[in-house]
Amino acid sequence: MTNFGRLLACLLAGLSVPALAQDFHDRRTVQTPDQVTADNPQRVPVLPKKQGFDGTLVLRGGRIFDAVKDAAYAGSLVIRQNKVVAVLPAASTDWPADATVMDVTGKTIMPGLIDMHVHATYPIPETPADQIGSEGNATLRALRNLRLYLENGVTSIRDLGGPRDAGTIISEWLEKDMAPGPRVFAAGHIITGTGGHSANRGSTYHAMILETQRAGGEQPVYTREANGADDWRKAVRETFKMGASHIKIASHFAPDEVKAAVEEAHSLGLKVTCNCETIYTQMAVEAGVDSIEHPLPRTEETIKLMAKKGVAAIPTMQLYQQVLDMRGGLYTGPTSRRFSMNAQGNFDMLKKLIAAGVIIGVGTDTGSEGFERAPNIYIAELKFLQKAGYTPAKALIAATRTNAQIMDMDDKLGTLEAGKLADVIVVDGNPDQNLDDLAKVETVIRNGNIVIKDGRLFVPRHVPKPLLKPSPPDALK
Ligand SMILES: [Zn+2]
Repeated sequence: MTNFGRLLACLLAGLSVPALAQDFHDRRTVQTPDQVTADNPQRVPVLPKKQGFDGTLVLRGGRIFDAVKDAAYAGSLVIRQNKVVAVLPAASTDWPADATVMDVTGKTIMPGLIDMHVHATYPIPETPADQIGSEGNATLRALRNLRLYLENGVTSIRDLGGPRDAGTIISEWLEKDMAPGPRVFAAGHIITGTGGHSANRGSTYHAMILETQRAGGEQPVYTREANGADDWRKAVRETFKMGASHIKIASHFAPDEVKAAVEEAHSLGLKVTCNCETIYTQMAVEAGVDSIEHPLPRTEETIKLMAKKGVAAIPTMQLYQQVLDMRGGLYTGPTSRRFSMNAQGNFDMLKKLIAAGVIIGVGTDTGSEGFERAPNIYIAELKFLQKAGYTPAKALIAATRTNAQIMDMDDKLGTLEAGKLADVIVVDGNPDQNLDDLAKVETVIRNGNIVIKDGRLFVPRHVPKPLLKPSPPDALK
């Protein structure tokens, strides 16, 4: 029924206004059933267009780990253009005679991996100070980083902070298949209170800003500092205007500021994730954020509230472990972070979140030169979940289906089911039994296109368009 029809039906039935208000609370639901929307959380209506594989592609004879069931089974996967159209039993050959068939006998076919927390555009230590603020430099760096991820089977990332609109521009570029890379769901810049996380004195980015200014360059806007509820609301709108797929906020803030930001983001159809700790996590959860990043300290009361309200956690264990290893086992220092932590404390936090029934997603917080450590970083993150009691299969479900759910993308991504977007990987091993096998990604299909073949980037040769008006020089004297 159309919304007008629903409205009419409600009026005729004499239903109360609250029922209608509920019906319209998410503007993305106001659509006709056959409406085609953009393949990102903003769901902007788009005209249908031909995408992905030119015809039908069959992955035949593999072990299918669909991330719906928690065990692999023998079968074949059928892809038409950019969608999965069928998951067939092993004995079936129910596909068109002209289909392209890839034999993947003995290999595992599974949904592409999702990383919920990366910074694809962040500078590397060698980036010259005067280029740190350059979106051009940031964009090229990200394209290179994202290729490394794609090779290792990551077909979607949530980019949680970078300079200005570099991330959102990459997102739009890759959405149009203009370069090899995963889908990018970008936050643009981080929003925090003045001097808050990522804008604090002594932080890497504070230092970078100063260095850039000294070198005569423009200040890179990695962070939008906001003050007062109205300004937080404005910062969310500015980020939306940049083309963000979601909003990333960080401590510190006041209760009315975080509440205004969340309310504004949700009314725009964007989810909010928060990098925060202690009292700020409680404030953020009360305000209705959708997820909390990192294993940072929080009370039992906050953990319980997260579970009750369905606020997800993205623990990013491996990055914090690396930071702790570099700092002699103790996290100290930033002026915005008046707490300390150690490895066991972080792991205990993960166990508490799991025990309380909090939804757990998978993100690595990879940035800068960290992409060169793929896939080790991703596998290491999953192994923290395994250490906390997950089976490898359950960890892979968190990395695919749960991640898609947290992003509100589970109708399009995260599992192998008919109707889903064809983001599929083929692994030469059994990663659902041994996570180390994730290092053996052989084929990557993203949006129905084969982008990694035999472990290497596969870019089809460009087919030249004809001249606008062919006039051969033969006629000339
Ligand atoms: Zn981060």
